[in-house]
Amino acid sequence: MNRFDSPQAAREWCRAESQSGRSLGFVPTMGALHAGHLGLVRRAVAENDVACVSIFVNPLQFGDREDFENYPRHFERDAELLESAGCAMVFRGTPADFFPEGDDLLREDPGPAALGLEGEHRPGHFEGVATVVKRLFEFVQPSHAYFGEKDFQQLLVIRDLAARMKGPAIVGCPIHREASGLASSSRNERLSPAERERATCISAGLFAARECWQSGERNAERLLRELRKRASNGVVELEYAELRDPLNWSGGPLTGTLERAQALVAATLGKVRLIDNLRLDETPS
Ligand code: AMP
Repeated sequence: MNRFDSPQAAREWCRAESQSGRSLGFVPTMGALHAGHLGLVRRAVAENDVACVSIFVNPLQFGDREDFENYPRHFERDAELLESAGCAMVFRGTPADFFPEGDDLLREDPGPAALGLEGEHRPGHFEGVATVVKRLFEFVQPSHAYFGEKDFQQLLVIRDLAARMKGPAIVGCPIHREASGLASSSRNERLSPAERERATCISAGLFAARECWQSGERNAERLLRELRKRASNGVVELEYAELRDPLNWSGGPLTGTLERAQALVAATLGKVRLIDNLRLDETPS
């Protein structure tokens, strides 16, 4: 596996691969890799001639300096995991490598998918995400790029960005969960064993809401009541727990009788902020 310490070196490698006629699958990450990331990488490996991964903790998408500084970083371990997953190239770089314009950087408007929920609770977050992903796509020029449904709203923002850029094709991948139901996340590393146990009420709330749906409940308010009661359960602090139409984000929060629903939750345990979501009207496979 090739390892590059600058996006400029990675760009040359990607250009050579594309010129040789090889399709390039790309997985952008912030590192501290777990089984969720590796699922994306394996899919990129399986569906393309070569797969590459970026590891960059992007300062533009963090409002909270402390969260940025405490974000886990283990490049060597990540590189070993990527190599065993069949990845052909990994690259990283400094903020100055990615954004040489410094203060003159023009930030990308993330569009209407950024409205509400994460966009509201983390002002500037999606602008930072859209700006870095646009830059990454320009460096790598992939044919396909892989993103997790774990960051559901981010996936919508990225699909809109890729449509504006006329590529790459965006592949959304299902959420990987630990055996407890907790969605795998780099931030789980910062939870104590007791907090990790308590955090399972987030996914338990989502599953409870889906069970309500499966038993015939279609009323948004009653589904939300169940979701909020079970997701917080007195042990995590809910930032939001909402229902949205997965096919019409701009429609805002759902009320009344529903045809379909995506339930989305953000919660904090101590200093760690976690997000999760679940489509209520789909049967588990
Ligand atoms: P991150 O390193 O957190 O920026 O995540 C990089 C990519 O991995 C994003 O597309 C995430 O949505 C995806 N991802 C993170 N956690 C999971 C998970 N538990 N299951 C599936 N994809 C995930």
